[in-house]
Amino acid sequence: MAKMEPAAVAYFEGKYVPIEEAKVSIMTHAFNYGTGLFEGVRGYYVEDENNILIFRLEEHVDRMVRNMNILCMEIDETKDQISEICIEVVRRSGFREGIYIRPICYKSELSLGPKLRGVESSFCCYVITLGDYVDIRKGLDVVVSSWRRLSDNAIPSRVKSTGSYLNSSLAATEAKQAGFDEAIFLREDGTVAEGSAMNLFMVLNGKLITTPPNADILVGITRNTVLELAREELGVEVIERPIGRTELYGCDELFFSGTGAQVAPVRSVDQRLIGSGQPGELSKRLQDLYFLVVQGKVEKYRGWCTPVY
Ligand code: PMP
Repeated sequence: MAKMEPAAVAYFEGKYVPIEEAKVSIMTHAFNYGTGLFEGVRGYYVEDENNILIFRLEEHVDRMVRNMNILCMEIDETKDQISEICIEVVRRSGFREGIYIRPICYKSELSLGPKLRGVESSFCCYVITLGDYVDIRKGLDVVVSSWRRLSDNAIPSRVKSTGSYLNSSLAATEAKQAGFDEAIFLREDGTVAEGSAMNLFMVLNGKLITTPPNADILVGITRNTVLELAREELGVEVIERPIGRTELYGCDELFFSGTGAQVAPVRSVDQRLIGSGQPGELSKRLQDLYFLVVQGKVEKYRGWCTPVY
């Protein structure tokens, strides 16, 4: 029998289908009003195990389910089933490389009217292959955006909602059009929030500083991973506090964290070099440790990795 080529599989309307067959109507509520929420979960292919390890699946599903409550969403699938579907789409795809899983919960009703209660919700999920999303070696050149990060009291920044990515798209587009790699959002009060799709860390006098969970950020799972690894494994003091824009220019190191971005050092902000203009010492140590952990090489954190096959 001929060997089947790997091909992306989706879970849609309760069934596993080839990704090309998973289609929604133009009347879908979420398509019209941005009433969807999702997760982005990475799986790393580990050569010596010939397996894919999904990183922190439980935490992603947990965030998703908590956010569903904010958007008044109820679906048929249980929390355990969501996790199982995330694994199953990868298993059925047959991929043996780095992948990205996108579980989505959305208002699937074909109805008019921007409301949340009483509008039917559904769950779907797909997988694609994905390598590095930004350059994680050279250090990124970033710019403070003229767009403000959406306020948690306007469009909840805490929720990874489809609608909120208009905000991210505006900032990322502006940055790229101006020749930069990424954007940093300020909040309405002028303090720092995060990147377009990543959290931000600053190193100052050996301490690791990041913005707190109530600073209009998406509270990243990578952010929480970095905080834990820095504290527990590298013995670094970590501080969650507001960060001023000009603090960025004078800090020792800066890096982004995110499922897509992973741990990505920043080498300049608004054309001011950070430190020596090279990825900083602590950033590199955390990046190295992060890649060991996601590959399942650190026994203590092996529980964060879910094997697919
Ligand atoms: N902030 C925003 C706006 C994001 O889109 C992301 C990516 N999910 C993050 C932060 C990082 O979150 P995580 O580490 O959970 O991927």
